Amino acid sequence: MKIHNFSAGPSILPEEVIKKASDAILNINNSGLSLIEISHRSKDFVEIMDHATSLALELLNLENKGYKALFLQGGASLQFLMTAYNLLQNKAGYLNTGSWSTKAIKEAKLFGEVVELASSKDKNFNYIPKGFDIDQNLDYVHLTTNNTIFGTQIKALPTTNVPLIADMSSDIFSTNIDFSKFDLIYAGAQKNMGPAGTTLVVVKEDILGKVDRQIPSMLDYRVHIDKDSMFNTPPVFAVYTSMLTLQWLKENGGISSIEEKNSKKSNLIYNEIDSNELFEGFASIEDRSCMNATFNLKNNQHKEQFDKMCKNANISGVNGHRSVGGYRASIYNAMDISSVNVLVEVMKELKNNV
Ligand SMILES: *Cc1c(COP(=O)(O)O)cnc(C)c1O
Repeated sequence: MKIHNFSAGPSILPEEVIKKASDAILNINNSGLSLIEISHRSKDFVEIMDHATSLALELLNLENKGYKALFLQGGASLQFLMTAYNLLQNKAGYLNTGSWSTKAIKEAKLFGEVVELASSKDKNFNYIPKGFDIDQNLDYVHLTTNNTIFGTQIKALPTTNVPLIADMSSDIFSTNIDFSKFDLIYAGAQKNMGPAGTTLVVVKEDILGKVDRQIPSMLDYRVHIDKDSMFNTPPVFAVYTSMLTLQWLKENGGISSIEEKNSKKSNLIYNEIDSNELFEGFASIEDRSCMNATFNLKNNQHKEQFDKMCKNANISGVNGHRSVGGYRASIYNAMDISSVNVLVEVMKELKNNV
């Protein structure tokens, strides 16, 4: 039975990736050993790590441009403080576009002055603030490119010479942007890349080493770069599975080709939200995310019926986050348009039945 999994995270992965990852748990590269029982210093695993990091740079078009890719632990949440630990000397600017940005701001304040460049909190983060000033003296500007909970996404980057750093946990590898505009990108694996347990960090090496404070080894990007993400035992399963997803993405035409599919999927769901009089979108139209579509029933009286129809259609994970309510359809890279179609058909059917 096919379940249409709209979970926001941990979320859907390509079926062939799950199959290959399962096989490797039993027997990696015909060695007779399990992926999770071999040394991370073995040739088999060192190759996996190398392949994963080079695929990440290749897909982002950041090869030979001074960037290093790392697979670390601690989730995107650890990056909230690790970025500031390594980069915040005096003052940094943060764009507050939701719960994750708010958490990043809270952590950064432990290390220096934080300027909130703009915030959309006044409207429960249903839009992306624009037209704010950026002081040239900031150490960096931090953005959350996709706001998983609220369903908004930054479509145009601010123009500035200040280094940009971004939490791309929920839209990395989904949209073909110029990634070289960023000096540091981080993304927890469990939205668009792999299982929970690892975080991809892509960092331009020459921005490091400029803060005065001492940095504990585990939190120092330079230590992890030096040790090729093997300063300590890496999360082997999460890295391997992420590598498989990146391979899948490459084989399927890379980011440009997935972007095309993603925009077909998001157009399909947003067209239904806009044309179906029972529903309304949450995020302002020009800032809508191509990964997380947030919407509500105009009349809660239809909730029970809609939920039941979703369940009968094998739709899973469409409940909105508690801070927004309503519904959220997460349509990450691995989701096929046929699943979005099933949801859209249920929305149409509801309209025809009430
Ligand atoms: C899920 C998410 C996080 C938190 O990630 P963890 O890996 O659980 O720490 C941070 N930022 C964004 C944008 C997210 O979607």
